[in-house]
Amino acid sequence: TVFNIGSINIDHLYQVGHFVRPGETLASTQYQQLLGGKGANQSIAIARAGGQVCHVGAVFHGDDQVLHSLNNHGVDTSLVAKTDTPTGHAIIQLTPEAENAIILYPGANHSLTQEQISGVLAQTSVEDWVLLQNETNLVLETLQQAAASPAQVAFNPAPMDLELTRAALSYIDLLVVNEVEAMDLTRTETIEAATTALEQDFPQLSILLTLGKDGVRYISHGQNDFVPAFKVEAVDTTAAGDTFIGFYLAALSEGKAPNAAMTIGCAASALCVTRLGAADVIPTRDEVNQFLAE
Ligand code: ADP
Repeated sequence: TVFNIGSINIDHLYQVGHFVRPGETLASTQYQQLLGGKGANQSIAIARAGGQVCHVGAVFHGDDQVLHSLNNHGVDTSLVAKTDTPTGHAIIQLTPEAENAIILYPGANHSLTQEQISGVLAQTSVEDWVLLQNETNLVLETLQQAAASPAQVAFNPAPMDLELTRAALSYIDLLVVNEVEAMDLTRTETIEAATTALEQDFPQLSILLTLGKDGVRYISHGQNDFVPAFKVEAVDTTAAGDTFIGFYLAALSEGKAPNAAMTIGCAASALCVTRLGAADVIPTRDEVNQFLAE
């Protein structure tokens, strides 16, 4: 099982002619509500990949449709806490030029308690993974405790917080970063310099460096493997990284070697970028298998 301790958001998307100006009241021409948050996206990706995933997070009492939606994707929500704080959400303005302006309210995502986390970690065994992103509270404390649990620990430091991430590195087994996060973390200006720094500075870690349309690199204990991305017509790269992580961890959990898991992750995220949307367009394992067989 992957215990994914992460965010659950409701994204409110408003189509507008222009961004709202100070003092202005602006009518939206179209409205859509979507399930989001890196945490929820990654849980959905694991479930779609055929993996066992138990999401650990928090939503407001009564927001049952959010949990139903996760359940419908195959995510176990029995460890999602109900709080008095509103569910995390994003207010997103989208213009005809496809620009966006976003207000993010972390809400319940920042109301995880030490008690909830200790209870989860006490249930883990050696076959399990604990997965975290950086959209919830108590991240460093959780990683520190997870390191003392039997489970393996994966961390996707998004959004990047340099100080927190540096401190977190001693508690984790697997770090997953994209190009921007890798350069931020290593304080380098090019991806080549970041790759070298990751290899030299963190020899105790396994690192997945996702390289967008180029593919993904795996750096682990002197090993350095590269798997190229699949050539596809990308229309929307939202949730590409989340899809990659979910399929990669699900494949590892079923006993696949890192290289095979990377290929599965690349295929899944390639399919994801050919579709407009986020959590709703994460492919299923069957679709990925079919894509790989073509
Ligand atoms: P993030 O979404 O976190 O920024 P990346 O952009 O690195 O992460 O994308 C994650 C993975 O998605 C890549 O390793 C790659 O396999 C796949 N991917 C992303 N963009 C494309 C693309 N344009 N074509 C094919 N695959 C892509």
